[in-house]
Amino acid sequence: MLYCETNFGKYPFKTIRFAEISSFTRGFAATAYPATIYINEKQFHLNLTQGEGQDVINELAAHEVSHQWWGNNAQMSPDYREGRGVLIETLAQYTQLMLYKNEYGKDKMLEMVKLYQNMYDSEKAFSGEEPLLTSDPNNSNVIYNKGLVKMYELYLLIGEEKINKALKNLLAKHKFPLQPPTTLNLIQELKMVSDKKNHIKIDAVFKNK
Ligand SMILES: [Zn+2]
Repeated sequence: MLYCETNFGKYPFKTIRFAEISSFTRGFAATAYPATIYINEKQFHLNLTQGEGQDVINELAAHEVSHQWWGNNAQMSPDYREGRGVLIETLAQYTQLMLYKNEYGKDKMLEMVKLYQNMYDSEKAFSGEEPLLTSDPNNSNVIYNKGLVKMYELYLLIGEEKINKALKNLLAKHKFPLQPPTTLNLIQELKMVSDKKNHIKIDAVFKNK
């Protein structure tokens, strides 16, 4: 929460609430609406059975809290079109990754990236290998798993500070009720804060399969 406020802009609500919902709601891991985060009780219990070094609940909470900035009608709510999932889920995955790095260090971050790379690789025969730029908003393998890996590439390329600056600018320009953002706006903001020599590589992060 503090990370998001410091880097992306102020949290617009007075309170935040975590609510547990029944695991009978199938296919539901966690979701966030303004000022409330719903987490499936199965996820709450998951961390008890995970091995050492796994911190599923913290990761999940970080991801969900960041949705108060990215998506679900919170502050930035992109239209339903290709690339929408990048502006919601991929940005939440990025926030989760940075918080994880800040908490546990760069080696653990790399472990997380490898985990998501493996998940992506094992599912890509079914999901297809779309570029982030034009990804189907429902292609969860691309927007969550590949998205995290690609944001890590971007992090190596231009660094956390520049990415966060671009995200803050994106939010300031496209926050509700302003014009909703697209992935092209995101790329534009990333280019505006970074060296020209990196622009082709920034394009590649989003446009390559
Ligand atoms: Zn999410």
